[in-house]
Amino acid sequence: PAPTDPAARRAYELDRAHVFHSWSAQGALDPMVVTRAEGSYVWDGDGRRYLDFSSQLVNTNIGHQHPKVVAAIKAQADVLCTIGPPYANTARSEAARLIAERAPEGLNKVFFTNAGAEAVENAVRMARLHTGRQKVLSTYRSYHGATTTAINLTGDPRRWPNEFGNAGFVHFFGPFLYRSPFHATTEAEECARALEHLEQVITFEGPGTIAAIILETVPGTAGIMPPPPGYLAGVRELCDRHGIVYIADEVMAGFGRTGTWFAVDHYDVTPDLITFAKGVNSGYVPLGGVIISDAIAATFDERVFPGGLTYSGHPLACAAAVATIEAMTEERIVEHAAELGERVIGPRLREMAERHPVIGDVRGLGVFWALDLVVDRETKEPLAPYGGSSPAIAELMGAAKKAGLLLFNNYHRIHVVPPCTISEAELEEGLAILDEVLSLADAHTTV
Ligand code: PLP
Repeated sequence: PAPTDPAARRAYELDRAHVFHSWSAQGALDPMVVTRAEGSYVWDGDGRRYLDFSSQLVNTNIGHQHPKVVAAIKAQADVLCTIGPPYANTARSEAARLIAERAPEGLNKVFFTNAGAEAVENAVRMARLHTGRQKVLSTYRSYHGATTTAINLTGDPRRWPNEFGNAGFVHFFGPFLYRSPFHATTEAEECARALEHLEQVITFEGPGTIAAIILETVPGTAGIMPPPPGYLAGVRELCDRHGIVYIADEVMAGFGRTGTWFAVDHYDVTPDLITFAKGVNSGYVPLGGVIISDAIAATFDERVFPGGLTYSGHPLACAAAVATIEAMTEERIVEHAAELGERVIGPRLREMAERHPVIGDVRGLGVFWALDLVVDRETKEPLAPYGGSSPAIAELMGAAKKAGLLLFNNYHRIHVVPPCTISEAELEEGLAILDEVLSLADAHTTV
């Protein structure tokens, strides 16, 4: 409903009249007006405060309005608001250095984009030109963005209305023990069978036709499924064997979310390309990009790279990235995220799972966790169907919001994805509300 505060009410009414929203039928929308935000909290048009366990779209890794980042954007605005991509500029150069220094060895160049989908788009472009091949393999349980290439790589149902005769996108199943597509019962079995499946897909598609395999290192929107030990190394080996480019999509998992700078740091693999966005500057100014291996960068030493964007490496966005990365380093924010995951979030969610029959599975790391909610733990029937919602989920989400907690929901799952900067007290406050609203969902189970 429209807020009572006159300015907020006007924002609401103008939004309804003129703003066309993402992923929605426009008729029935009821957007919450946000008037301000700070750290882990946002305030609505009636002055109510909410704890943000969703980090918006899992992007405010450093929390809202971090003073060092805000100051850096202001300082950059005073000096140089914008400059075209052909020119060199301090904000862009320093951002590229800081990002490359944190990436795995051998990835030393950064192509900047405005956000994640464009990063995926350009990573695929690089892979295709580098290999001279067209096909790209991705998993069904994935989200890679909403531009034409990225949405066709995406596994989830948002792809379906976007498939307009795009050739060369092939989907396969990644490892996911809880809902194993391979009837595996152990991580080792899941890993081996998932790699065998991928190898068969490669064989039957024709290794010489495949430019790239793109994988979210820890799939995010699709369910936060940390891969079993050895899986990504196996993918790396298959790519090496067949001359396929390995693209790690770290748009959601990168920049502290999993408790390391990049999620690949957990798995000891070096991709050829890494896509990033979101956490690189927490979205204070839109920014994304591709981190490029020396070998792929060398492809374009003599040959023209046929891609570009007016705002590639925008100085305001890059200044925000420099300040974000420096603040995350100085304040040990990545270490904080790792510690919270291990000591607080994981144990508390597992303890809740013992009391709430609706929780079928708890998985994650850092500040990147999913609750897989089920009607029945035996059958693992999800609390909402694939691609849909359910009254039980709507009730849980509504009750959490009413209690002052914003959650991330995808189908039958609730994701606990607060900012990397959240304090332990704030975390406990949110987990207590989550605990309460899960009791409502328990009533929808059959046990
Ligand atoms: N890749 C992954 C893994 C994502 O999670 C997202 C967004 O959620 C994207 C790509 C697309 O990023 P953007 O929405 O910034 O275009």
